[in-house]
Amino acid sequence: MTKNNTLFIEINDVEVPYIIKFRKIKYLRLEFKDGTLNLVVPHGFIEYRQVLDRHKLWIYRKFVEYKHKHALATEIKLNSARTAEQFQEYVESLITSIGNEIEVFPKKVLFRKMNTKWGSCSSKGNINLNSRLKFLPDRLIEYVVFHEMVHLIEMNHGPRFKEMIYKRFHDHQNLEKQLRSYSFAIMNMYFS
Ligand SMILES: [Zn+2]
Repeated sequence: MTKNNTLFIEINDVEVPYIIKFRKIKYLRLEFKDGTLNLVVPHGFIEYRQVLDRHKLWIYRKFVEYKHKHALATEIKLNSARTAEQFQEYVESLITSIGNEIEVFPKKVLFRKMNTKWGSCSSKGNINLNSRLKFLPDRLIEYVVFHEMVHLIEMNHGPRFKEMIYKRFHDHQNLEKQLRSYSFAIMNMYFS
């Protein structure tokens, strides 16, 4: 799930979003804004991968710090009562109703534990869902399933994709925010 122009660097099982901003400056600088790393670089600068590599630890530390504060601020409640079976049943019902709505169905739905993604969609028409979604509120699960199912129509996050998402989820920005908080809360649960 990305905003336009947002790239990701994977550090220690965490996907840190970053954007590159070109400015009339001499020296590059790294800063965090709302959990996104801003790489502010002089025009024509291309070695940013090296810069990211060199500052990996700093980036990771900053990002995790942000996630932690954010998760605390948004009051996350993990649903530990839902079983894997109940979760899969719920997902199946969503696939039926969303499928009827947008007239496309996945070939297969696979559940597995993923660390950096809530879901993905393959070019073969299969959908992968993070089994840890079971800890999330229904509406967020619905949002993720819908997102992946729209990918069966549009593989990218272009205007047509966005339009379909925005039309159904007016509060998509808030939902994206919540998803980020939950990913951190779950990370804490497994790695602390
Ligand atoms: Zn996507």
